[in-house]
Amino acid sequence: MEFTKLFYVLAAVFFIIGLKKLSHPKTARNGNIIASVGMLIAIVVTLVAFDVLNYKLIAIGMIIGAIIGSTFAIRVKMTGMPQMVAIFNGFGGGASALVAAAEFYSKVGHGEQTTFLLSTIALSVLVGTLTFTGSFIAFGKLQGFISGQPIVFKGQKVLNALIAIALITCSVMMVNNPDQMMTYFLAVVILSALLGITIVIPIGGADMPVVISLLNSYSGIAAAATGFVLLNNGLIISGALVGASGLILTNIMCKGMNRSLANVIFGAVGLTQEGASGDAAGKQMNIKSYSTEEAAMIFDAADKIIIVPGYGLAVAQAQHAAREVADYLESKGKTVLYAIHPVAGRMPGHMNVLLAEANVPYEHLKDLDEINPEFDTCDVALVLGANDVVNPAARHDKSSPIYGMPILDVDKSRTVIINKRTMNPGFAGIQNELFGFDNTIMVFGDAKQMLTDLLKDLKEL
Ligand code: NDP
Repeated sequence: MEFTKLFYVLAAVFFIIGLKKLSHPKTARNGNIIASVGMLIAIVVTLVAFDVLNYKLIAIGMIIGAIIGSTFAIRVKMTGMPQMVAIFNGFGGGASALVAAAEFYSKVGHGEQTTFLLSTIALSVLVGTLTFTGSFIAFGKLQGFISGQPIVFKGQKVLNALIAIALITCSVMMVNNPDQMMTYFLAVVILSALLGITIVIPIGGADMPVVISLLNSYSGIAAAATGFVLLNNGLIISGALVGASGLILTNIMCKGMNRSLANVIFGAVGLTQEGASGDAAGKQMNIKSYSTEEAAMIFDAADKIIIVPGYGLAVAQAQHAAREVADYLESKGKTVLYAIHPVAGRMPGHMNVLLAEANVPYEHLKDLDEINPEFDTCDVALVLGANDVVNPAARHDKSSPIYGMPILDVDKSRTVIINKRTMNPGFAGIQNELFGFDNTIMVFGDAKQMLTDLLKDLKEL
């Protein structure tokens, strides 16, 4: 048994080194591999050290799981990544709850009823089931199966609080009331499934990535609780690591939006509200629409260009086209930098991943604090499918839902060229006053098409 513990510690070391390496794009791939090796060690040790009854069933399960998982991972588009993570979290939570339920029926059903065992089972089933249903609602919202709008009704918070109180009461009763244990166990399953749904439906589709990150943390907590049920150190450690890293990520995302977690969960942000669209709403803006030919002439005269990618770049899959334009401009002796906002796109690191895919050198990617002082001396800020992260209302408009969010100071550039398809708002559902600024010009169209045309026009100058 001692050697098992030793190998679990080794697996944990692999997990921690893997996580550390995931924090930089350059080392992220290696980090993934190292963490996977850690998991392999943990799985093999578990299989060898414990009385495994049926290797055949486990192998079949692993093969089916590997086929489904890798097919999804290969086929999913970058913009669909949050949904995929949501499903995986959901299954993770569900699996923990199922294992705990199996222990409940096998051990507890046969008279093993310690308070510790019952409490850990209750915790695992509660958090695991809640994660399962909550993650599937998050998936449905992002995939468009359920309205992305916050679904709110009167008395919703009171209802959620009542369900939560009933859930905690039933969990306590399950532990303290051996005669009625089965009934309370079922009540815990049903109430936590319900709470997972009712907590997530009032949150807007666009806040789902934050919720998914939080649910990811919950799936870790459920796994750690199951680790206590099984007294398995490997599961406790890996669950705790997932729980902690999910919480850290949630915190980073909330900070990037300058919102509290409570505001994300209870704020119903994204609900279409009359008059809540900030200063730019309803105001007549003086929009100047240019062709790519005209834009090419502005680039021709520029020395320093900052590319600002946003969600639209991901939708258009325009990262390669952006790189080609940047390469061409650099070949003409111009300086090209990329400004990366922490919450540009729909998941943390979204822009880094996209640009890394197009082989943009890491040194050219500058984060918010690093790039903002550069806009003062920038000739052209080229905004590609970004909207909220460059909206100056965040600085001064207290009525704006993004008030206080740190933004990229593109408006300080000599010229701002904004590419998007229409005048439609972005994630926060608000108009952007920047589009009407004197130094702003719009080049409408799909980002990939626009960049392809721009490159052609640049070459023809
Ligand atoms: P936005 O959602 O503000 O804007 C994206 C813009 O892209 C839209 O206005 C859209 O305009 C345009 N667009 C869409 N498709 C295309 C296309 N094919 N070609 C060109 N443009 C296109 O994106 P930002 O990246 O600026 O901001 C991200 C938002 O998401 C922030 O509000 C952030 O808080 C939020 N968020 C981010 C998370 C993260 O982790 N990154 C997590 C949760 C929320 P049009 O339709 O007119 O083309």
